[in-house]
Amino acid sequence: MAMIPKETIEEIRARCNIVEVVGAYLPELRRRGSTYKCNCPFHKEKTPSFTVNDGRQVFHCFGCGVGGDVFRFVMDYEKVDFVTAVGVLAERVGVEIVYEGGQPEKSGNKDVLYKLHTDAAAFYHRMLLDGTEGAEARRYLEERDLPIDVIKDFQIGYAPQGWEQLLSRAVKKGYTAEQLEAAGLVVPSDRNGQKSHYDRFRNRIMFPICDQMGRVIGFSGRIMNKAEKGAKYVNSPETLLFKKNRVLFAFDKARKPIVESRQAIVVEGQIDAIRCHQAGLNNVVASQGTALTENHARMIKRYADEVILVLDADAAGLKAALASSEIFMANELSVRVVTLPEKEDPDSLIKNSGKEVLIELIREAPGALDFLIDSFQRSEDVGTEAGRMRVVQAVLNFISTCPSAARRDPMIHAAADRLNISPMALSQDLRRVKQQQQQRPARKQVEEEAPRPIVPKKTYPRQETALLELLVHYYPEVHPLVHDFLPPQHLTDPTCKQLVEILMLDPPETLTEGFHEFDEATQKIISQIQVEESRTIDAETLPTDLAQRYILLFWKRALEQEQAVLKQRTDLSNEERFVETTRIKHDLHALSKGWKDAQPMLEARLHKDVDF
Ligand code: ATP
Ligand code: MN
Repeated sequence: MAMIPKETIEEIRARCNIVEVVGAYLPELRRRGSTYKCNCPFHKEKTPSFTVNDGRQVFHCFGCGVGGDVFRFVMDYEKVDFVTAVGVLAERVGVEIVYEGGQPEKSGNKDVLYKLHTDAAAFYHRMLLDGTEGAEARRYLEERDLPIDVIKDFQIGYAPQGWEQLLSRAVKKGYTAEQLEAAGLVVPSDRNGQKSHYDRFRNRIMFPICDQMGRVIGFSGRIMNKAEKGAKYVNSPETLLFKKNRVLFAFDKARKPIVESRQAIVVEGQIDAIRCHQAGLNNVVASQGTALTENHARMIKRYADEVILVLDADAAGLKAALASSEIFMANELSVRVVTLPEKEDPDSLIKNSGKEVLIELIREAPGALDFLIDSFQRSEDVGTEAGRMRVVQAVLNFISTCPSAARRDPMIHAAADRLNISPMALSQDLRRVKQQQQQRPARKQVEEEAPRPIVPKKTYPRQETALLELLVHYYPEVHPLVHDFLPPQHLTDPTCKQLVEILMLDPPETLTEGFHEFDEATQKIISQIQVEESRTIDAETLPTDLAQRYILLFWKRALEQEQAVLKQRTDLSNEERFVETTRIKHDLHALSKGWKDAQPMLEARLHKDVDF
C-alpha cells in the first residue's frame, strides 16, 4: 500500500489553511464572530450550521454531525480516500509527495483520471493551436467568431482524425488503455476476439468540461462539417469523474459571479455559455442539452437565490423550461424564463443583435408562473370552459410543487388575478391537488442521491462533550481540576473517556497533529469540541465553576450507579450493606451542596482509591 510519510502529511496540513480550502469549495463561507459559517454541503438546511474554525483548523456541522480537519473535508466533499485527499491538497500548496512503498494504485483511482483528463485537454488544445492538422478546426472556430483569447480561456481543442492519436500518445506517457477506457476517452472494441481500443473523439472540436474546482472531468466534441456523419455533439460517457446529472458547463468560471449576483443564468449549449461569458455575462452555465435534475438545482441553490432559464422557443424548449422550473422551485429558488426570438439561441442572438438585446430579455424575463400562463394562453382556447380548466389545472400542478407557503401565496394571488378566479377558490383547489398528490405514491426520485450525512449522526452525551470543550478551550484552568478530581471511568461514552485520558497526558494541540490517525467517530467529536469557543460558557460563568459542576454531576451519576449495584449484591451482610449505603447517601448529599462541601469528600474517596 502506498504510504505518505507523516512529516509530509503534517507539512501539507501546516500549509493548508482550512478556511481557504473550504472557501474555495464553498465561496459563500462567511465570517461570523470567531468562526466561519455557511449552509452545510452535506445536508439540506436553511440556516448555516456548518462551521469552520480558523484557529483550530477544524470544521464541524452542528446539523448533521460531519466534521474533521482539512483532509477530512476534502475526503467527504470529493468522496475520495485519505491518500487522494492528501494528494489534492499537496498539489494545491505545492508539496511533492514521495510515497513510501510505491505510487498509489492506479486503475480506478480518481487521481489518475484527473491527471489523464488534464493531459488530454492539453493535447487537444495543442492540436488546435499548433500544426497543420488543426488548420480546419482553427478556420471553423474563426468562422464561428470564437477568438483566440476565448479559445485559450476555455481551453478549446481539436481531436485529430485517426483512430489512436490520443491513445498512442497517452500510452507512451505511461497510461494504460484500461485507464483511458475508464476515463471514457477511448472505446474498447473486439476485433477477431482480440480486445483493442480506439479514440472516442475523432476530428472534432473539443470542449473540456470542468468540475466546480475547474478540473477537467470530461469532454464534449462537436463535429465541424455538417456533411460528415455522426452526432453533432459527442460527450464523455458517465465515468468515475463525469456524472452528467451533476455537472454544468462553465460552472467553475460562473461560480463566483453567481455568488456575487445571487443569480444563475442557465443556457443550453456550451457555445452559448462561452458567448455569454465573452460578452461579459459571467454568471452563465450550460445544461449541455440534458434535462436539469435535483442535483443541478441543489448545486445552484448553494450559491444563488434566483435562476434564469434561457431556452429555445420551440415546444421541446417550453416543456423543458416548465419541468426545470418545477425542480428549481421545489428547491426554493425563484425562477424566471427568457423566451428567445424564434430560430435564435444566445450565441446567435448576441452575434446578430448584440448582447444588450439579451441583457434586456433577461432583465424583463417573466416569472415561471407568468411564463406558464402566457404559453398556455397562446396554445389553449381560454374562451372555452374546457380550455380554461386545463390552464387552471396546469397552474395548480405548478404551484403545488412549491414547498414554501410564503412563496405559494403570492403565486395564488397572481394566478387568480390573471385567470379571473377568486384566490379563495384557487387555494381550495390547490388543497385538493395537494391531497391527491399525497395519496399517490411519492414521486420516484430519479437519479437523485439523498443529501444525507456520510455516516448517520451519532450523538454523544452532551455533558461529556461540554466538559471536553472546557478542557480544550480553557486547558490551563480546567486541566488541574479534571486531573485531580475526575477519574475518566466516570464518563460513560468510550470516545469521550478516551479523549479525556489523552488530554490528561498531553495538551489540546495533540488532537490536531495526527488528527487523521483517530477513527472517524473520534474525528467528529474532536472537531465538534474544537470548532467553537466553548458554547457552554457565558460571560457570567467561570470555566472552572462550570467544570466543577460537571465533575460533581459525573460523580453523582457514578455514586447512584454504585448505589444501584449495591442493592443487587447478595454477598453482603445486612450490616455491611447498611454501612456502604449510608456512606453513599452521605456523599451524595455532600455532592448536592456544591463544590466546597464536596471537595473534601472527593479527596477522601480518591485517596482511598490510591491507597487501595
Ligand atoms: P451549435 O451552435 O454549435 O450548433 P448549439 O449549442 O446551438 O450548438 P443545439 O443543437 O442547440 O446546439 O444543442 C444544445 C446542446 O445540446 C449542445 O450544446 C450540446 O451540449 C447538446 N447536444 C446537441 N446535440 C447533441 C447530441 N447529438 N448528443 C449529445 N448532446 C447534444
Ligand atoms: Mn448554437
